[in-house]
Amino acid sequence: MTPHPTSAAATGPDSVPASGDRRRHPAPASLVFFHGPMDCGKSTLALQVDHNQSRQGRHGLLLTQGDRSGAPQISSRVGLRRDAVELSAGTDVRLLVRDRWALGQRVDYLIVDEAQFLTGAQVEQLAELVDESHVDVYAFGLTTDFRTRLFEGTQRLFELADDVQRVQVQVLCWCGLPGLLNARVVGGALVREGATVVVADTAPALAPGPGEGGVEEAVRYQVLCRRHHARGQLGPTPTGPGQLALR
Ligand SMILES: [Zn+2]
Repeated sequence: MTPHPTSAAATGPDSVPASGDRRRHPAPASLVFFHGPMDCGKSTLALQVDHNQSRQGRHGLLLTQGDRSGAPQISSRVGLRRDAVELSAGTDVRLLVRDRWALGQRVDYLIVDEAQFLTGAQVEQLAELVDESHVDVYAFGLTTDFRTRLFEGTQRLFELADDVQRVQVQVLCWCGLPGLLNARVVGGALVREGATVVVADTAPALAPGPGEGGVEEAVRYQVLCRRHHARGQLGPTPTGPGQLALR
C-alpha cells in the first residue's frame, strides 16, 4: 500500500525519499475547486490543468461521472476529450487511488470533473488523499442546481477545499448580463421543483410530465442571470407595436 515513488516534489538531494513515500515529506498538496454555471468551460479547464500537470512529468488520474458524452471520459464543448474513470456514489476514491498504487502506477494528482455530483463523504476522501498521501486534487463542478441551491458535492468542497475559484469564463444570460444560475426548463417553462438528477449538465434527459399518466417531457437547461431566473423569463418577451419590452 506504499505509494509509488514520485519525483514531482523533489527539490534537492536531501528531499529525495529513500522509499519514495511522499507521506514522509511536508510537501503540501492541495484541494482546489473550480466552479461555475453550465457552459463556463469547466471541462475544458479540467483538461488544460491535466495537460499542464502531465507536461511536468506528473501522473494523473481523471475521474468523472455523467459526462455529457455518456462515456467514461471528460469531454469539453471545444472538442477535447480524455478517458476517465467513472465514479458512482458508492466509489471510495481512496481505494481507487490505492489500487493504482498497488499496481505500481503513479498517481500524483487527480482531476475530478462533474464534482458537484460527489457525495460529502467522497469530498472528505479527497481531502484525506491530499493530507495523508499528498495527492493534489483539482475538482471542477457546477455551483448551484436548478433550484439555485448548492449541489451536495459543491457545498462540501466549499467547506473543505484549500482554494475555491469561480471559473472566469463568463456565460451570458439572453439579456446580456452575466448568467450564474442554471434553469431547468420543461415544456418551455422554468421549473423549480423536482429531483436533482445525476446527468451531464446539458445531456438530453426526460422527466415525468405533470399529468397525462406519466408522459415524459424533454428537459433542458439554460443559464440565466439572477433576475431572469427569479422571474422565470427564458427570453425576450415578444412585443407588438406600441408595447414596451419587459426586461
Ligand atoms: Zn437576464
